[in-house]
Amino acid sequence: MNTQTLLKEFNLRNTLPRTCILDEFTKSSYALSHNDLENNLGNKFDRVTIYRTLKTFLENGILHKVLDDDGIVKYAICATHDCSHEQHSHSHVHFKCNFCGQTNCLNDIAIPNISLPKGYKFHETNVLINGICKDCNEG
Ligand SMILES: [Zn+2]
Ligand SMILES: [Zn+2]
Ligand SMILES: [Zn+2]
Repeated sequence: MNTQTLLKEFNLRNTLPRTCILDEFTKSSYALSHNDLENNLGNKFDRVTIYRTLKTFLENGILHKVLDDDGIVKYAICATHDCSHEQHSHSHVHFKCNFCGQTNCLNDIAIPNISLPKGYKFHETNVLINGICKDCNEG
């Protein structure tokens, strides 16, 4: 996936931080935290710039949040391209490997529909499965 094309598709002006940060996500096979980005990008951008860029991507449906079990928020690319400014429209499972600590999107595994009791309003579902990932299991 080309970063420039992706930004254009979402009508976002391509700035250096946007291009570099989005690049990290298209290159990575697993979800990245704010700290991962800081480490990968060195001192290229300050915390605020990274934070703002992530926020823009979240709001525009390019990235979604991946909630980790230790409370760290990670982010991953929205693979479906169905996400928009209004809402994210995917409900897939996330998998956290206990061995390498990486979390990835299992885009093909859908979260079953859960019906809520009367009076409850649905916002989003987060399903995190713990285990050993494919790479670690085979290695
Ligand atoms: Zn999304
Ligand atoms: Zn692993
Ligand atoms: Zn995901």
